[in-house]
Amino acid sequence: MTSLTLALVAHDAKKDDMADFVATHEHEIGAFTLFATGTTGGRVMERCPSLQVTRLKSGPLGGDQQIGAMIAEGRIDALFFFVDPLSPHPHDVDVKALMRLALVYNIPMALNRATADRLIASWG
Ligand code: PGA
Repeated sequence: MTSLTLALVAHDAKKDDMADFVATHEHEIGAFTLFATGTTGGRVMERCPSLQVTRLKSGPLGGDQQIGAMIAEGRIDALFFFVDPLSPHPHDVDVKALMRLALVYNIPMALNRATADRLIASWG
């Protein structure tokens, strides 16, 4: 399998879910190059210390936009973005922009854990 690059982002209420998802699939996910927004990346590495995750800025401080730019540059193969649909987010425009670029560049995008589980299984 060629090494794919995954981007991980989780809203606050979904960070436990993301850490749990990565821990559950640590073996498969460890084969990929990983980027994450700041806090999400920190939580993932706390839970799975053996994983190498490049942490970008925190989402509200530009991390979502950094990942969007990487998608536009063809540097991200899939986006795992666990969205909290029940809370307002100060950086909602960045969230929308990130999703939009994933659509424009037609990369696989999992917005919840159920989809993420199936996406990871598809590479198993
Ligand atoms: P965070 O950013 O991982 O730094 O919390 C995620 C987001 O809310 O966009």
